[in-house]
Amino acid sequence: MDYEGPIYRPPSEADSLLVQATIGCPHNRCTFCMVYKNGPRYRARPVVDIIRDLDEASGLYGQGVRTLFFPAGNTIAMPTDDLCQICRHARRVFPTLERITVYGSSQYIHHKGPEALKRLADAGLNRIHVGLESGDDAVLRKIRKGTTAAQQIDAGRWTLEAGIQLSLYVILGIAGAAGSRSHAICTADVLNQINPDFIRLRTFVPKIGTPLLEMVQEGAFEMLGPHGILTETAMLLRRLTASSQLTSDHYTNYINLHGRLPESRDRLLDQLNAALKRPESDFRPFFIGDQ
Ligand code: SF4
Repeated sequence: MDYEGPIYRPPSEADSLLVQATIGCPHNRCTFCMVYKNGPRYRARPVVDIIRDLDEASGLYGQGVRTLFFPAGNTIAMPTDDLCQICRHARRVFPTLERITVYGSSQYIHHKGPEALKRLADAGLNRIHVGLESGDDAVLRKIRKGTTAAQQIDAGRWTLEAGIQLSLYVILGIAGAAGSRSHAICTADVLNQINPDFIRLRTFVPKIGTPLLEMVQEGAFEMLGPHGILTETAMLLRRLTASSQLTSDHYTNYINLHGRLPESRDRLLDQLNAALKRPESDFRPFFIGDQ
């Protein structure tokens, strides 16, 4: 099987078969992201090559494959007919397959529209991981996410209406100290309007080679410390009315939060309040990310 460029997958895809359908990211402008800053440039692989990889994996792993993830960044942007074709082929060669997942930013989901999403669901795509990052338009502009809160709400709702599970990622601290409150309030509002299956929390860590690291180093972006992040998380959580699975399944986070909303909210808030009583020196130190 062929792989090119960085191969990223979320922790929840740790047991998935990885077959590369696209290379790079068609957007590649987010100020916090280093993944494809040094290339390769975005392109979709030829369907015939992806099918060859699926067939090879089928020979290697046989009936044991239950989940399949097509990396890389924004595979949802590949032509709909091609993505449908590889999903259908995967369902044929892996009869026990329970899930096919891709990464997809809201701008590309929005560009596809409801009808294409329904076709993808019919072809067997059944989960999309979306970097929502924030529901605050001012933050989305600053981090050059290439989308708006309104577009994220449409894209999220269309995905769910098509019958595709939606996993939304929120970056705590991405608005810095100055924008923290607005980031928490607007993000909760967008999540409530979408009501995704999963809300996954990540904490902002400046990465080498990114514009946001330069801003941190120049003093133009004041990062939140552990208490600031925990306070922002509590602000977000208090406003969430969505019935989603909330999880902080990532090494960047200061504490591990995991529960179904809304029933787990009080327990999670108790966890946050207890963590806020601990000194900041108790938590992981500041570091610059290199992956
Ligand atoms: S965060 Fe996602 S959309 Fe933004 S540049 Fe990185 S891979 Fe592309």
